[in-house]
Amino acid sequence: MGHRAVNDFNSELKHRLDAIREQNLFRELRRVDSAQGPRINIGGKIFLNFSSNDYLGLANDPILKEAAIKAIEKFGIGAGASRLICGSLTPFHQLEETLADFKRTEAALTFSTGYATAIGTIGALMGKDNIIILDKLVHASIVDAAKLSSAKLRVFAHNDLNDLEDKLKWAGKNIEHPTSNILHPKRVLIVTESIFSMDGDAAPLREIVALKEKYGAWLMVDEAHATGIIGENGCGLADELGVGGQIEIQMGTLGKALGASGGYICGSRALIDYLVNRARSFIFSTAPVPAAAAAATAAIQFLQSAEGERRQKHLRARVAEFQSQTSNRKSQIPGAIIPILIGDESKAVEAAAKLREQNIFVPAIRYPTVARGKARLRVTLSASHSTGDISTLIRALEQIVNRKS
Ligand SMILES: *Cc1c(COP(=O)(O)O)cnc(C)c1O
Repeated sequence: MGHRAVNDFNSELKHRLDAIREQNLFRELRRVDSAQGPRINIGGKIFLNFSSNDYLGLANDPILKEAAIKAIEKFGIGAGASRLICGSLTPFHQLEETLADFKRTEAALTFSTGYATAIGTIGALMGKDNIIILDKLVHASIVDAAKLSSAKLRVFAHNDLNDLEDKLKWAGKNIEHPTSNILHPKRVLIVTESIFSMDGDAAPLREIVALKEKYGAWLMVDEAHATGIIGENGCGLADELGVGGQIEIQMGTLGKALGASGGYICGSRALIDYLVNRARSFIFSTAPVPAAAAAATAAIQFLQSAEGERRQKHLRARVAEFQSQTSNRKSQIPGAIIPILIGDESKAVEAAAKLREQNIFVPAIRYPTVARGKARLRVTLSASHSTGDISTLIRALEQIVNRKS
C-alpha cells in the first residue's frame, strides 16, 4: 500500500516517536468540547481547569465576543494579505494605539502570535555581528529567534545578575565599541521575561536595567505572563517597577491574560517603523483576523475599567488563598503560575493522570518545555476560579504530590 519512499518515511517517523515514548516525553492533543474557562468538557466529562493562561477569564467573556462579532460584521474574517500589501485594517491600528497608550510608549506593533513577534523582532534587530544574552529560562520563541538571527548567543544563569554581568563583560571584549557603520552595527541585546512562564518567578528588572545601562546593551523584556496581571491595570512588571521607559523593547502576547490572540511590541516610534520595514514575520505573513485585534482592544480597555480592576483583584485573591493554604511557601507568587516540581517525567505524567481521575486538569510539563529531570505540574490560576475551586485543587494535590517546596 502506498509508495515505498513514503512508507519508509512513515516508518522512520514511527521509530522516532517510539524513542520519544521511551523517554516518557510523548505528547498528544486532548480534544475539548467547550470554551476555555474554569471548567472544560473533555470527552463528556467536566474538568476543573488549572491549565490555561486565560488568567482573567477573558477568553470567553461577552465583552470580547461582542467586540469580535462587531468586527466580523464590519471587516469580515480574513485580512486578505500582509498589512503592507493590501492595506492595514482599522482594528489593527485601534489595537496598536490602545496598546501604546496602555504601556505608555510612543508606539506599538502587533503580530499574528507572540512567537512570531519574538522571531520577527529579534531577527530584525540582530545579525551575525551582534551578541544576544539570554536568561537560561526564557521561552522557546526567544531561543528560536536568537538562534535564527545568527547572532552569537550567551546564556546567563536564571535571574543571576553576577552571571549576567560576566556575560556583558565578555561581550564587551568580543565586540568593538558600537561603530558608526550603520550596515554593520555591533550591538549587544539582553532578553529576559518579567514573569517566567514555567517557574512563575519575577526577573530583577531594575537591576537588569542598571546593568544594561552600565554596559551599553539593549534590553528586551517579554511580559507574556505579567501583562494583565502585574501592576496598575495590569500594565506589567516594567511599569510597576518604574523602568518601562528605560527598556528599548517591550514584548508580550494578546493570547494569555488578554484572552484573544496575537503578539505585540511596544516601544519608540523609530523601533516600530523599523520593525514594519524589517520584521520578516510581520512582512511575509497574512495579517491576523481583524476580529482578534478588536477583541484584544476590548480586553485592554476592560483592564482599565473598574470591572477590570475588580477582576484583577479576584485573581490576586485566588493566588493568596492558594498560598495561604499550602505550607512552606518561601516566597510570594508574583503572578498566577504555580509550578509544582516533580522531577521525573513519568512521575509528573502520573500525577497529572491522578488529578484527572478527580476531574482536575493540570498539565504535566516536561522536556523540551523545561529541562530534563525538571518535570512539573504547572498550575495556573484564574480570576474565574472560586474559593471552593482552590480548596478542591489543594485537597487533591495533598493526596497526590508530597509537597516540599
Ligand atoms: C506564550 C509565550 C510566548 C508566545 O506567545 P503566543 O502568543 O502564545 O505565541 C512568548 N513568550 C512567552 C514568555 C510565552 O509564555
